[in-house]
Amino acid sequence: MPVGGKKQAPVVVELAEATVISPASGREWDVSGSWNRMFESRVLTDYSYEGLGRIAALSGGESLEYCYGCGKCVPVCPVDLVSEYGPRKIHRKVQTGLDLFTSDELWKCTTCANCLRVCPKGVNMIEIMPAVREKAIDSGSVPDELSQVFEKTFRYGNAMGENPRRRHAWTKGAGVEVPVLASDPREVDVLFYVEDYWSYHPRGQQAAQAFSRLLTLAGVDFAILGAEEKTIGDSQRLAGEKGLFEALMEDVVGTLSKYSFNRIVTPDPHGYNALRKEYPKYGHEYPVLHYTQLLADLVDKLPLVNSLDKKVTFHDPCYLGRHNGEYDAPRKLIEAIPGVEFVEMGRCKGNSYCCGGGGGGMWLDGFNSNHLSERLSERRVREAAETGAEILAVCCPYEVSRFEDAAKSTGNSHLAVMDIAEMLDYATGGLATLGSGV
Ligand code: SF4
Ligand code: SF4
Repeated sequence: MPVGGKKQAPVVVELAEATVISPASGREWDVSGSWNRMFESRVLTDYSYEGLGRIAALSGGESLEYCYGCGKCVPVCPVDLVSEYGPRKIHRKVQTGLDLFTSDELWKCTTCANCLRVCPKGVNMIEIMPAVREKAIDSGSVPDELSQVFEKTFRYGNAMGENPRRRHAWTKGAGVEVPVLASDPREVDVLFYVEDYWSYHPRGQQAAQAFSRLLTLAGVDFAILGAEEKTIGDSQRLAGEKGLFEALMEDVVGTLSKYSFNRIVTPDPHGYNALRKEYPKYGHEYPVLHYTQLLADLVDKLPLVNSLDKKVTFHDPCYLGRHNGEYDAPRKLIEAIPGVEFVEMGRCKGNSYCCGGGGGGMWLDGFNSNHLSERLSERRVREAAETGAEILAVCCPYEVSRFEDAAKSTGNSHLAVMDIAEMLDYATGGLATLGSGV
């Protein structure tokens, strides 16, 4: 019988009398009908099973029909705070006729995993949404701006459509040597996998430069792939382009096979997530760290000579925290900086709010402006400002640009957004400067 459906009042069936036998003593006694109330089983056929059935038939879509409507997922869904959303609402809408394959509702989920954290039935939007999106893309139902990102990623190996030959242009301003393996193909300890936004976005480039200075200061033997690097494409996968993700993986694995290294270190929690959890499904295993994890082991070696006398709060990236369980490394680094007064936001760690960038949301701000009362990044920046913090510390390449825009649009320009690598670089007397608002 299909799961779900309109609640029906149960029909009471009372037996006039019944005999109960004690399993301990073997005694028998009669009980009246009121002690022997039974319920007729309910038949849940008020709604067509077709919509749920189409989704549940997909590999990854099965768990949507497990929902039993408890509603725990809705208050923790970041999208519901700025719209009407959450797995329960999606389940109900599908049950009552929504075609999720062609609906705008399909693209609002950021795959942040906060609903999965609390769902007693394991309804898994991180698998459901990519599975349905993949079918929607196959039939040409995909927002334009996302489609363009897929095209750029396919053609150029990065989501921004930038020239692959300029991938390591940022190294010129690093102030330290950043070796590129193609021109210096030796064995290294750390392969620094820079990813798109640290490679090309001006604010990301500053963080990449700061991180390179920290590695150099700590004596780490590292190198980058330079023009050979392509995005790992985990957000494209979660946005439904599994085929593109797999094609990128072939290229990435092929490039990595040319070089010798002990571990991969990346600033991108999305790339980190894929290398840690998706690549092994295809037989590709690499030791991988998020850059905050590497630095947390090295921070004692860094000469933290400059005091950063500011109140600082921190935003947990969904794909570092909830998806991969790392909450301590970024906090250890922030708290190691002299002068910092660290304050948590109300929503933090496992219940952290989402910046809106995951699962393809990074490229759907225009599309979402028609559906959300405000961007998730704006909501988050207001939460950060409410703590009285002067700096919002981040450690995901998506976030500096998202939050800096949001700080301006919400009238919180006094809140500086800084990558933790920049903050540490500042504390070591490096080239990083404090944000303009501070
Ligand atoms: S928490 Fe899970 S079972 Fe409960 S309403 Fe949400 S999706 Fe359904
Ligand atoms: S994954 Fe996040 S955005 Fe998507 S439905 Fe769950 S809580 Fe909402």
